[in-house]
Amino acid sequence: MKQKDIPLKTKRFYKVKNPKKNFLCALCSAPRSMKYSKQLGAMNYLQIILISSALTLSLFNIIGPKVIFSVFVVWAVFEIVNKLLYRKEIPCPYCGFDATWYRRDVKKANQLVKEFWAKNYPELVSPKLDETILDESQNIPPEQLETAEAPSQTAVN
Ligand SMILES: [Zn+2]
Repeated sequence: MKQKDIPLKTKRFYKVKNPKKNFLCALCSAPRSMKYSKQLGAMNYLQIILISSALTLSLFNIIGPKVIFSVFVVWAVFEIVNKLLYRKEIPCPYCGFDATWYRRDVKKANQLVKEFWAKNYPELVSPKLDETILDESQNIPPEQLETAEAPSQTAVN
């Protein structure tokens, strides 16, 4: 049975390129970093200007001066995509804690964390190894079940 990589145990946390924000998860204290922020950055506004300028240049002959309003369309798309990416990034990848849900509805946030654990680490959530969580590859004979949870501490030299 392949040992699943559990970041909270191995301390191997994901790294994000150019993080906008670094913090610790409020629930599991794992180091978190966010790539996206709630508001668009200066770089995004520059991209919006460049894209709408390109649209204006290429579509001016077809649509006419009205093409200038494409800047609002491009801006709206940027805002929506950024919000979606930001929302997607909020839940903790290690424990499933979602701070925005916690602020809105604690019960829902609690349920999300439970679902996260049931989905990602069913073997840690369920105290006993039963048929539902065992697949062919990890079929452990019943006499070994007691020892399976606590591996013996024999030194490997
Ligand atoms: Zn967490």
